Amino acid sequence: MAMPDVIVVGGGIAGASIAYQLSLRGQRVVVLERAMLASGSTSRAAGLLGQLRSTEAATAMLMESLEIVRSIERELGVGLFVETGSLRIATTPEREQETRESVAFGEKLGLDIRLVDTAELRSLAPYMESGDVTAASHCPTDGHLMPAELHAAFVKLARRNGVEFRTHTPVRRIAIESGRVIGVDTDGGRVSAAIVVNATGPWSWGMAEASGAVLQTVAIGHSYLTTTPDPRFDVGRMTPAIRDYDHRIYSRPDAGGLLVGIYEAEPSVYDMNGLGESFDMSAMSVARDDLTVAHLQEAARHRFPFLRENIAFQVTHGIMTFTPNGSPLCGEIPGIANLYHCAGFCGHGIVRSPVVGAIMADLILDGRERYDLDDLRADRYSEVPELQHRHEIMAAGVRSYSGHYGKSDRSLN
Ligand SMILES: Cc1cc2nc3c(=O)[nH]c(=O)nc-3n(C[C@H](O)[C@H](O)[C@H](O)COP(=O)(O)OP(=O)(O)OC[C@H]3O[C@@H](n4cnc5c(N)ncnc54)[C@H](O)[C@@H]3O)c2cc1C
Repeated sequence: MAMPDVIVVGGGIAGASIAYQLSLRGQRVVVLERAMLASGSTSRAAGLLGQLRSTEAATAMLMESLEIVRSIERELGVGLFVETGSLRIATTPEREQETRESVAFGEKLGLDIRLVDTAELRSLAPYMESGDVTAASHCPTDGHLMPAELHAAFVKLARRNGVEFRTHTPVRRIAIESGRVIGVDTDGGRVSAAIVVNATGPWSWGMAEASGAVLQTVAIGHSYLTTTPDPRFDVGRMTPAIRDYDHRIYSRPDAGGLLVGIYEAEPSVYDMNGLGESFDMSAMSVARDDLTVAHLQEAARHRFPFLRENIAFQVTHGIMTFTPNGSPLCGEIPGIANLYHCAGFCGHGIVRSPVVGAIMADLILDGRERYDLDDLRADRYSEVPELQHRHEIMAAGVRSYSGHYGKSDRSLN
């Protein structure tokens, strides 16, 4: 390829979606990936997609994500979205109130969502303990995306449009001259381009730091368990996803078994630079006596009592990227022109990737903002003195993660 118009650093779902959207707009794009494509967070994701978010814009974005996915499904003739529906349950008066409000909010936005009574709840999820549930809502058009398949679809379509993906090509440095990006340096030499996108997920703060910028992202561990299908307990392949914020867990069907994940109160933070060159997230494991696994099992067994019956399960552990307010950082940071960041998806990178790819392509090519991007701007913390140093950013990221579930507002997963 002649000199690319844009270099995307990072071949995860964000990088692949941005490259695809840029290629649709006629750009020559090279994606540089340190290891294999989709070997970072994308390899670990559960893919849950709940469209209702805390603001109108965030909800509209997820609805658009789903539209993009649907159009890719039609174009490639593949299935990427599993429309199982979703349930959100409340076990406290505050959560009950919040559930009622969120239903009213969702209805206002045109989302198919309503309250369900105990009998309906039992028929939708008979394997769930519902004795302590005081209110529940059901959205039949939610479900989950298949992360590996969606990533592969972005790559396939992008390649069709001429995008080049180079694996095992770590970017060592972003090259800057007179305050503007001029390319990136790799072990094989410089790759020149006038525009560079940092889409390195959990590695993003280090990549920003190496170019002299501060990016408020934090790498945080996250775990879920997946049960082996057991003929004694039929979960149902199209059983709804369940969000139990009070007990910090979510679930969805998984190949005849049940996947249950936890947003624990005291998560572990990772220093991605310290993990080294050979680090492979897809091979990460966590000890069975780990405290998070203990919390996960306890909460899962409370909500899904059949898990007490000696059911085989495996635990998946990976690393998410969090920001102080639960929204990604998208765009430029003052001081370096044409270096765009896109990272910090706070556990929603799979479901947000389709629309965020389009948002980034618009921003990069004509500065157009198809949504009110105040919550997403990469420079939104540039003037906040308390969020310029690593330890403060880490503390803010941990607060954001641990408040993601367990708190009572409309910050929905
Ligand atoms: C256990 C778990 C469960 C999850 N569940 C969900 C879910 O239900 N729904 C949902 O939407 N999201 C979920 N997520 C979050 C989702 O996985 C992430 O938000 C998403 O994958 C982020 O994509 P990304 O492209 O930003 O990052 P990544 O997938 O991590 O991609 C970044 C890439 O950059 C590469 N890279 C890093 N440094 C360099 C360098 N110097 N040079 C070149 N390349 C580099 C990495 O190797 C990596 O491939 C989950 C995450 C985990 C860990």
